[in-house]
Amino acid sequence: MISITIDNLVKRFGSQTALNGISLRVEPGEIFFLLGPSGCGKTTLLRNIAGFYIPEEGRVLFDNDDVTKLPPHKRNTGMMFQSYALWPHMTVAKNVAFGLEERKVPTAERNSRVADALASVRMEPYAERKIAQLSGGQQQRVALARALVIRPRALLLDEPLSNLDAKLRLEMRTEIRRVCKESGLTAIYVTHDQKEALSISDRMAILESGKIAQIGRPEEVYRRPHSRVVADFIGETNFITGKISAAEGEEIMVETEIGTLSGVVGDSDWKPRPGEAATVSVRPESWTIHSDSKGATGPNTIKGRIGESIYLGEVAQYQFQAGPLALKIFELNPHLSTRPTDCDLFASASPQDVVVLKK
Ligand code: ATP
Repeated sequence: MISITIDNLVKRFGSQTALNGISLRVEPGEIFFLLGPSGCGKTTLLRNIAGFYIPEEGRVLFDNDDVTKLPPHKRNTGMMFQSYALWPHMTVAKNVAFGLEERKVPTAERNSRVADALASVRMEPYAERKIAQLSGGQQQRVALARALVIRPRALLLDEPLSNLDAKLRLEMRTEIRRVCKESGLTAIYVTHDQKEALSISDRMAILESGKIAQIGRPEEVYRRPHSRVVADFIGETNFITGKISAAEGEEIMVETEIGTLSGVVGDSDWKPRPGEAATVSVRPESWTIHSDSKGATGPNTIKGRIGESIYLGEVAQYQFQAGPLALKIFELNPHLSTRPTDCDLFASASPQDVVVLKK
């Protein structure tokens, strides 16, 4: 298990700066995700770690080894990409063995390592099948075995599941996490899929225009986004703009057009002051709907009416018109009878779910 340290990395393409001073540390054995809007620099960062790009400034360290200028084959990382890049007419075993043949590993050791790698992704029975005779999910398992067989120092994954259908993606997500944890591999994983990141990462970095917007555990990033960009990127949310009216201790009061909301700061480094402009972020599932005001006497209770609603079985999605604002509210386990649209209802949210962000 190794740690991976990125120290003030800058990568330019001509006049464009793709990475603008990125620093982070991935702990040994950690599954670390890189996320962010298209073009934010995720793939460029992964390629600097793999050795396909050499940065203009900064360093990449595997433990204490400076690998910044080492070519990819000398870094000993396992890689898994979107396109499997397997040889369709060769057998599974031959595909997996390829990296070992290149490294001139003796035949007996090669065979036993191929068998171990296939066993770890549960593909042993398919060793003599041709790649073309496998399903997409099985091919992805072979790609993972091929990455593991070289006993890499770290595993780098770039959208490895994006060619798979939804069900297989779910299955492979857990499989990748299991294999990484069983082999004690440090992994860095690029994806567009937030659910993939939330469900299997130990920690994640959200990138924005070549810089780090936030690093944290999935729960931290989801529940305490540091900025509007992060709150907007991960999950769905309602933004309500306003002005800080009081900020004492943990509790922050924000005056908004739907009343005064009580919340907590997203970024604990920010010390808001009364009078300062702010944006409040409340996730759709954080609201509870009440049919009368008796059930909703706490802070952050607002009056409104249901507009559009979408029933999805386990959840109903409502548009809740509160004064000038149309809020999105999700109700889990919705009742058999739909919510009325012709009378006032109340919605409330706990202050812990009302996140106050710098405007
Ligand atoms: P996506 O999610 O769309 O894959 P990304 O976050 O992985 O995006 P990168 O591919 O790292 O983004 O690109 C970061 C920026 O650098 C983009 O503006 C992109 O246009 C630019 N870029 C990336 N590779 C090159 C290249 N080889 N030559 C010139 N510009 C590049």
